[in-house]
Amino acid sequence: MMIDLRRVDDREHLLLASYAMHSRDTAGRMRPELAHGYRGPYARDRDRVLHSSAFRRLSGKMQVFTGEMGEYHRTRLTHTFEVASVARTIARTLRLNEDLTETLALLHDIGHPPYGHCGEDALAEVLEPWGGFSHNQFAITIVTELEQRYTDFPGLNLTMEVLSGQDTRAHKAASAVGCSPLLEVQIVDLADSIAYDAHDVDDALQMGMIEFAELAKLDIVARASEQVQRRYGALPPNRRRQALVHELVDLQIGDLLSTATEVLHSVDGHSSDEIRSAGLRLEHSEEVAQERAELEAYLFETVYRHPRLVPVRNAASSRLRELLEGLIDRPDRLPLRFRTRVTEVGVARSVGDYLAGMTDRFCDTQHLLFTTHPAGPLTDW
Ligand code: MG
Repeated sequence: MMIDLRRVDDREHLLLASYAMHSRDTAGRMRPELAHGYRGPYARDRDRVLHSSAFRRLSGKMQVFTGEMGEYHRTRLTHTFEVASVARTIARTLRLNEDLTETLALLHDIGHPPYGHCGEDALAEVLEPWGGFSHNQFAITIVTELEQRYTDFPGLNLTMEVLSGQDTRAHKAASAVGCSPLLEVQIVDLADSIAYDAHDVDDALQMGMIEFAELAKLDIVARASEQVQRRYGALPPNRRRQALVHELVDLQIGDLLSTATEVLHSVDGHSSDEIRSAGLRLEHSEEVAQERAELEAYLFETVYRHPRLVPVRNAASSRLRELLEGLIDRPDRLPLRFRTRVTEVGVARSVGDYLAGMTDRFCDTQHLLFTTHPAGPLTDW
């Protein structure tokens, strides 16, 4: 057979491992569409996610630190790009489907509400009687219902593999047993935590929220610092921080690649379906897994609960609650699209969807409008 590299199936046949998710095996889309001339189904999905308005709004959503805390740190958008970069590196090396991996990475945080985790907690608590709130689940609502970009269908009409990959994130506990998620899905999950472990260290050090000497007591940091020291000798603090963060990313990716290569070597020749049924899971070596757990526990205690963050977070959380409870009482103040949506999903869920889609600043301004003007609908995003 003549190989034609312009054809997606031919390219994948040549480049991907047997256990990668091949585009030719896709279960397709909810609403069938004709194949594209030169983009495969997952490349199309990636472009749809990238061009969605929810994706652009990631730039106005905080990851851990807010806008008042300087301009060095990550937003949810830059975090997303770092995750995509790590995930693609891993996918390419393991000969997995890079387009699918990239799509899943760009999508993975799209459902985050304003104000980071405290926003999510506020929504989950107030919406508890109506099924709670989860950003992973909300990502699916966005891409199947709320995005309006195409005349033929609501949402983005993404492939089943992308939707079920995101769904796996929403039901993590259930997916931890039995059949395993696609390797591409697993890679994005691992890349997410590799990225935030490293960049939260970077941001927190840069902002003076943690001390290098304290941090260096952690095994993984000590190991990375030794490597930096060996390579560059003594460095001024800023340079040392940057080198340390590169080293932390490298060290974790390197570890994952070496365990994954070994595991995957033994299943070469098997299809993605076969290894899913076998429940194959990629993970870090035991040593690095333990070191990462130690680092995450440290970040949780010292950074995520830092006295500089707590008041900012509490204030944000009460704004969101006030708006949430206020709008549940006064659904007439919802923008038209969400007033209409009330008939489909009920008042509380429609209010939740409206608020969860907002950026931090947009939520601030709508809160101000709601509390200072007694009447009239708020603005759609
Ligand atoms: Mg993330």
